Amino acid sequence: MRTILTQPDHRLREISKAVTEFDPGLELLLVELEALMRAGPGGVGIAAPQIGELQRVVIVDCRRSMRPCKNHGLLQMVNPKVIEGSGNVLGREGCLSVPDWVGMVPRAKEIQVCYQNPEGNSCKIESSGFEARVIQHEIDHLDGILFTDRVVSTRDLVRRLQSDT
Ligand SMILES: [Zn+2]
Repeated sequence: MRTILTQPDHRLREISKAVTEFDPGLELLLVELEALMRAGPGGVGIAAPQIGELQRVVIVDCRRSMRPCKNHGLLQMVNPKVIEGSGNVLGREGCLSVPDWVGMVPRAKEIQVCYQNPEGNSCKIESSGFEARVIQHEIDHLDGILFTDRVVSTRDLVRRLQSDT
């Protein structure tokens, strides 16, 4: 199984390419991503560049979140894009690629996202709360942005405790 890249690996800072082929290679990538997301403690999302695949693919699944929230179950999003965002809310984030830190990050509270499913069909969903936060976090990875770039001040960045997942 592949490993998750961690900061400061330069591949985490690249802009990922749009997916144009909805083929078995994409299916395999989705399977690998899901397995890695579930292997980590509290993993609720992962983006392809986190394993060095610079393609616009993310997976989000908030059903396992310790914070109960409204969610769409497993989302396999190809070429996702936030087309509308409203509200602004500060919340705690961590990242499999930034293992030692958690931080308070401002995000849109409600979003509309369009994306393609693994078959290449266009989809659009509305999401809010914690799931909307995770989706925004994962889409950021596709543009080489980490949550640590978005903290309001470095005082909002704290070392993750050993017991804290
Ligand atoms: Zn992340």
